[in-house]
Amino acid sequence: MYRLEELSSAQARELMSREDAIVIIPVGSVEQHCEGPLGTDLMIAQGVAEAACERVSGPCVLAPPIAYGFSAEWSLAPGTVSLSLQALQLLLRDVITSLVRSGARNVVIVNGHYGNSPAVEAALRDMMPSLPPEVAVVQVNYWEALELDVGHASDAEAEVMKALGYSVDFGRCECLQGSPRGAKVYVRPGEGPATLRSPARGLTRDFIGSAVAEAIEAALGAARGSRRPLP
Ligand SMILES: [Zn+2]
Repeated sequence: MYRLEELSSAQARELMSREDAIVIIPVGSVEQHCEGPLGTDLMIAQGVAEAACERVSGPCVLAPPIAYGFSAEWSLAPGTVSLSLQALQLLLRDVITSLVRSGARNVVIVNGHYGNSPAVEAALRDMMPSLPPEVAVVQVNYWEALELDVGHASDAEAEVMKALGYSVDFGRCECLQGSPRGAKVYVRPGEGPATLRSPARGLTRDFIGSAVAEAIEAALGAARGSRRPLP
């Protein structure tokens, strides 16, 4: 595994332009997590991306994370730092375009925050016509890769943090019940809890890294495959 910030320009070019090289960009958020750290989703995105980067086949370059995300739903809570939708999408566009210009062909967003995922998806779709056809860009949401029902500041999220080496206690969270969040918005009504592949308890970094590496390779394969587009 290589860290982009530690490579020289020539090393980055040589590594990233290999056909089998994968470049991972962790995307997190800085937002209230009850009594736990504001950067929970950032810490998870980074930890998960690093564990997966160590385990994919072929060289893997880990780019510095995009720390802030789209956290409109928690913007009224102190400490939350949210990008506007447009800012996140432009940031993704600039980072991905730069990496592709440097030779990257397989670019992976490892996302740690649920609220980012529709924004990231829209940004990636928007970029399709402007990137060369040999490039694949995919988003992997870690909770989907782990098939875990991870709620905001939940026990499951604490278990993921623990597996990555952080000890957290999210404690009480009135903000989940009564504190102001603005208008109530709910989308994806068909979405229920994911099927648990394993109980969150006892999760290990090794399991997380392997499952996410597998999901990354599957997503890149699907992006390059001939699957019929959804309606
Ligand atoms: Zn979270």
